[in-house]
Amino acid sequence: MIDQFNKQKTLFNTRTTYSYDFRIGQLKKLEDLLVKEKQVIIEALYQDLRKPEIESLISEWGFALEETRFAIKNLRKWMKPKKVKSTLSTFPSRAEIIPEPLGVALIIGPWNYPFQLTIAPLIGAIAAGNCAILKPSEMASKTSEITSKLISKYFDSSYIAVVEGGIEATTLLLQLPFDYMFFTGSTKVGKIIAQAAAKNLTPVTLELGGKSPAVVWKDAPIETTVRRLVWGKFFNAGQTCVAPDYVYVQQSIYQEFKKQICHEIRTQFGSSPEKSESLGRIIDRRNFDRLLSMIDTKKILVGGESIPEQRYISPTVLYDVTWSDTVMQEEIFGPILPILPFENMDEVYSEVGKRDKPLSAYLFSSDKRIQEEFKVQVSAGGMTVNDVLVHLTSPYLPFGGVGQSGNGRYHGHYSFKAFSHEKSVLIRSFWLDIRARYAPYTKEKVQFLLRILGLK
Ligand code: NAD
Repeated sequence: MIDQFNKQKTLFNTRTTYSYDFRIGQLKKLEDLLVKEKQVIIEALYQDLRKPEIESLISEWGFALEETRFAIKNLRKWMKPKKVKSTLSTFPSRAEIIPEPLGVALIIGPWNYPFQLTIAPLIGAIAAGNCAILKPSEMASKTSEITSKLISKYFDSSYIAVVEGGIEATTLLLQLPFDYMFFTGSTKVGKIIAQAAAKNLTPVTLELGGKSPAVVWKDAPIETTVRRLVWGKFFNAGQTCVAPDYVYVQQSIYQEFKKQICHEIRTQFGSSPEKSESLGRIIDRRNFDRLLSMIDTKKILVGGESIPEQRYISPTVLYDVTWSDTVMQEEIFGPILPILPFENMDEVYSEVGKRDKPLSAYLFSSDKRIQEEFKVQVSAGGMTVNDVLVHLTSPYLPFGGVGQSGNGRYHGHYSFKAFSHEKSVLIRSFWLDIRARYAPYTKEKVQFLLRILGLK
């Protein structure tokens, strides 16, 4: 591992990765990989998570391709030094900010979108001129294997490489003095990464999770609201970091909401969801058991069925849930949706505000006043109003958490910035040299300086 790291460090120190031509060439290689290897990627995702093809196409392969093309299109603009104003105290001078590559980056991915969540940060790493080692999640083993094969087929390992493995491999990697670490995963492991990074003062971005609320106000059109919620909650069988974890429903529409959600689950997944090709499976037995232990059978509105051999859990909705229920104690990360009735928005703000800041928050309401209030009252990594998940699909919006749901942001230009150091450069002229700044300091000099700097 150390050899791999040193090889990349050596390449980085030659400044080969700095040029526009090199970066654009590598981004085009990545685009080529994505276009040519689409089928093997989709197949690996199916084997790991029985991910429906359309979900893989949109949220893994397609997302990575779009981000790559966005970077190709914008790279020249992103790399351009940004001229900024100079101040009177440095007159005459020119000032600019130069985005500089950080060095050798470590990218650690999770298992739920195992391809996209290692490749999307890599796009930022390449665009910004870094070398990178990827560590995909061992739990999505087929995708990890395919990622490793494809990366070594398309890239030189002295530039980009994959290290496969679990805790042991990651622990070894974490001892190396990387120039930057980009981690996506749980809050618990995020703390381990941050501690390891601190030893070498390695800057780190943490893309973590949390309990993302969805709130349905009484004026929301029930059919569309429920359709969008059911889609976003059960996409990838609920194993999505920005999935609505639970839903608060205003009391006056609570009964209607319950009826509609039963109907909508049947519409989207049929009356035997285990036969549906549109529903993925739970990643492993440990998570399957963890999820089942969250289901209070007395509160099942719909679902609650499971098939252990397939790691299948049917789309499940729990009703009349309160904050003391087991399902509300930690991030669910599976196909279980608790519904909590509420009377007024203050209750929601107070309960959500007491807890860790979530990665996402969702509101369904056409009322502009409620929308404005929600945007201010709820702190979250990001939010969508009147839909779920979709804010993360825009390359113009920074994606990341806040507080326990993470720190740092990426996607689009933000990925480039995450993997760059913004270097300040000030170029002075030899013309004009005000003596008053030099010793010996006298009262007259101080007064003169304060006067010309406008500090009196
Ligand atoms: P995880 O934290 O268990 O694992 C993530 C990575 O860390 C894996 O590559 C794993 O091998 C490694 N790892 C695990 N334990 C480790 C240890 N003790 N020391 C060093 N490395 C270790 O996360 P997960 O189960 O793969 O993913 C689920 C979590 O990730 C959820 O909380 C979810 O919300 C979050 N997530 C966040 C985002 C985001 O973009 N913010 C995206 C997807 C998932």
